[in-house]
Order: sequence, then C-alpha cells, then structure tokens
Amino acid sequence: MMNTALITGITGQDGSYLVEDLLERGYVVHGIVRTPSLQRWQRLDHLLADPEVHDKRLFLHGADLDDVTTIRRIIAGVQPGEVYHLAGQSHVGASFEIPESTCEFTAMGTLRILEILRDCRPVPKFLHVSSSEIFGSPDQVPQDESTPHRPITPYGVAKSFATDMVRVYRESFGFFACNAICFNHESPRRGESFVTRKITRSAAKIKLGLQTQLTLGNLDACRDWGYAPDFVSAFQCMLQQDEPQDLVLATGIPHTVKDWLEIAFGYLDLDWRDWVTTDQRFVRKADPRELLGDARRARRAIEWKPSRTFEEMVIEMVEHEMRVLNPDSSQPVQ
Ligand code: GDP
Repeated sequence: MMNTALITGITGQDGSYLVEDLLERGYVVHGIVRTPSLQRWQRLDHLLADPEVHDKRLFLHGADLDDVTTIRRIIAGVQPGEVYHLAGQSHVGASFEIPESTCEFTAMGTLRILEILRDCRPVPKFLHVSSSEIFGSPDQVPQDESTPHRPITPYGVAKSFATDMVRVYRESFGFFACNAICFNHESPRRGESFVTRKITRSAAKIKLGLQTQLTLGNLDACRDWGYAPDFVSAFQCMLQQDEPQDLVLATGIPHTVKDWLEIAFGYLDLDWRDWVTTDQRFVRKADPRELLGDARRARRAIEWKPSRTFEEMVIEMVEHEMRVLNPDSSQPVQ
C-alpha cells in the first residue's frame, strides 16, 4: 500500500522540496495551505500543472493553523501515516514585530496538531521542523541534541516550546515524534526577506543594471548555513528509524554575511563594497552569535551529510537569479 503523508507549510521553501522528495519516494501527499486560497503557490506550480500529480498523488486542503476543527477534519479524512509539520511564522526578525501571532502559529499551532493526533488510531508518525534559534545564546559551541535551550528571540521561544512539546508527547504519550533541529538552510526557493536570498538576488539585479544599492544589517552576523534540499531529504529518513529521536541537521561550518557577499558579488565580477550599505533598520534587537551545529548523531543514525559546499550553494543561488532575471540570455552576463 502507498504511504500517505500530510504536510503543513507545503508552500514554503522546505515544503516544496519535501513534497518532491516524498512523491519521488512513491508517497501520496496531502498539503495544508493557508486560506483564503487565492494566493499563488509559486513553489508548487510545476507540480500543480502536472496532470499525473495534481489531485492524483498530490492534494491540497485549505485551513489556517488555528482552525482546529478544519485541521481535525482534514486529518480524519486523509488518515496520514506520517505528518510533517513545517508551518508557522518562520521569520526571526519579524517575530519581534508580531510576537503574539508568532507564538500562536509556531508554538500553539504545533500543540494543537499534537492534540489532534492524540485522538487518531493509530497515531501517525510526526516530524516537527525545529530550529537552531532554540539555542539562542548557547553555553556550548557547537550545539547538539542535548544542548539546553536558551532562546533570545520570540521566534526562538516559540520554537523551543514546540520542540519540548514534541518531546513530551513522545515520552508521555508514546508518539513516534521527532524534532529535526535545523540550522539555517538556503536555496533558490528561500523567501526574499532572508539575508541569503536578498544578497543573491540583489547581486544579480545589480549586475544586470536593475538595482544600484543593497542595504543590509549586521555584515559580521555568523550562521551555520546549509543547503535546503539536503535538510529536507533527512525528514523522511528520520521517520523510518527504529526508535524516534531528535536530530540536529547542520553543516558544522560557520560563515558570515560578508562571506555571502564575497562569493555572490565576486562570482559576477563585482566588488560588494561598491554597492552595499548598512542600516540600523535591519539590525536585530538580539541576534544569536555562536550558532554552530554538531550533526554527528544524524550522520550515525541516518547517514546524513551535506551534498554541497557553501560556495557551491551560493553560486547555485546566484546562477538561479541570473536565469530568472535574464531569461533570454543563454550566456552569463560578462
Ligand atoms: P535567520 O537566521 O532565520 O534570522 O535568517 P536571516 O537570513 O533572516 O538572517 C541571518 C543573519 O543575517 C542574521 O544574523 C541577521 O541579523 C543577519 N542580517 C544582516 N543583514 C540582514 C538583512 O538585511 N536581512 C536579514 N533578514 N538578515 C540580515
């Protein structure tokens, strides 16, 4: 029998890669999308346009994360064997402006789904996409699954709550539930407000004469940046383990915003110093300093390892922007 999966947050960067991964593995996939359903789901366009896939092996259902009755009804109808919970307010910077809705969707949204699953027979396996932001200002570098949570942003607090709830439901109610504790992961499908996509898109626009300046926040901000499709490919594997456990997914290599600028602009023969300015507007009220992941447990448990170097990922993202912005050109702009 075919496996049936339900994904919340299917229209996001990770959701769009996950649905491709699961369809390739032969799953029937159901996705929950936010209502009203008038918005475009760009990242899924290619799948929704495929008559062999849309409404045959991929089904979308409209529901907001706080609409418990509708989500319960969807889950009862779909009867998924596996639930992948990716939805939530995912922007750390924005979480300072909208802390209540961040907690409503990211923290309480997760608890509500766990409660719905508690009434299912059998209880589907459950994967929650957690975040390195739970470590915030950590005592130890690098961080692994046993590092205490010390979040310093509303988003980090909300994710910490959700991550702990998943553990509690695993330990107290016997759920097969896992947290994928993901450090930053990027791709051409990353939202444009994230610094990585902002840089790669702007570098391409500047090269093509479509933009004259890029304004950023802290250029020395440091993160452990990996490649999103690598992270997403671990999610399904995590639910096939003999025993459920949380896993950190990370590259273990730190980079700064300046590294992104050097590689992205350098690839296009530009000197970023000629184009980049900084503005307090983009500097966070609090920003984790030493987020660096130790993914040794994931390597052992599911043989997970990154497929791309940092530089390869940045260049792939720049090339993507050049293709999208300059579709008529088969050659890179010199
Ligand atoms: P996050 O780690 O999930 O918050 O991912 P972001 O891509 O939003 O931010 C990554 C890092 O880049 C953070 O330390 C930000 O403070 C830093 N940063 C520097 N300039 C900017 C900017 O203009 N926009 C964003 N989003 N982040 C910036």
